[in-house]
Amino acid sequence: MIVRTDAVVLKSMRFRDTSKIVTFYTRKFGKLAAVAKGAREPKSKFGAALEPMTEVHLVLYKKDQRDLQLVSQCDILRPFKTIHSEMPKMEAAMSVLELLHQLTHDEEENPALYRLVTDTLEAVEQAEKNVYNFVYAFELRFSALFGFSPSFDRCASCGRPAAENNPRIAFRIDRGGLLCSACAEARPMQRGTGRRLSGAATIKLSTAQILHRLLTARLDSLSSLGYHESVGNELDETLRSYLRYHFEQLRPLKSAGVFRMMSPGGHR
Ligand SMILES: [Zn+2]
Repeated sequence: MIVRTDAVVLKSMRFRDTSKIVTFYTRKFGKLAAVAKGAREPKSKFGAALEPMTEVHLVLYKKDQRDLQLVSQCDILRPFKTIHSEMPKMEAAMSVLELLHQLTHDEEENPALYRLVTDTLEAVEQAEKNVYNFVYAFELRFSALFGFSPSFDRCASCGRPAAENNPRIAFRIDRGGLLCSACAEARPMQRGTGRRLSGAATIKLSTAQILHRLLTARLDSLSSLGYHESVGNELDETLRSYLRYHFEQLRPLKSAGVFRMMSPGGHR
C-alpha cells in the first residue's frame, strides 16, 4: 500500500552499497524504519531529504507485516538550517530526537507528540539563546503527554499553592511533584529511599518556578528565559531523576554529554 505522511528524520545509516536505512518519526504512524534505495548515489533523487533533524513529506510502500518499509519519495518540508549550522542548536535538537527515539515504540501513532517534536525543532531553529531550555521543555512536555505531568506550582497532594515563604520546597517524584510543608511532614520520606526515588528531597523555590515555566509557557518565549547556574544545575538534576523514575528504559543521552562538554557551566 502506498501511504503519505509528514515525518522527522531521526537517523540514517548506510545499507548495502548505495542505500540507506532511515528511521523516521511520522505524523501518521509514529516511529518506523525504511530503506531508501540508491540514497547514497551521487545523483540520488532524495538529495538532502534524508538528513537527520529535517522535516519531510514522505511517500512509503508500506506493508503491515514488514519491519522495514520502503521509501518511494521524500521531499523536504522544513530543512531547519540554523540547527544544522549552529552547534548548540544541533546538540539541543539531537538530544530531543534521541529521547524521542529511545522512548517511543515502533508504529505507535501520536499526533500530539508529532506536533510537540516539530514545534520544539521550530523553536530551536528560531531561538537566539538559551537553546537548552527547549530540551528541558521537551522532556517535561513529553512526560506530560504520557501522563506523568509533574506539579511545580501547587502541592501535588492537597492542591494548595505550594509557594510558601520558604526558599526551598519539598519535591517528591514518587508523589507527583512539589509538596506543601504540611503534606511533606504528614508522610515523610522513608530513610534511604529518597535519593533513588526522587533526587533531591527539596528544591529551590526559584528552580520550581523555572520548571513550571518550562512546562507551561509558550515555547517561543523560552529563548528569553535565563537563570543562575545553580538553578540550572538543580533543574537538570531534578529532571534527570524525574525521567529515570518514569522511563526506566532511558539511557543517558549521548548528545547531552557532548553538549555539556562544549559549553562549560552552560545551561544557556
Ligand atoms: Zn499539600
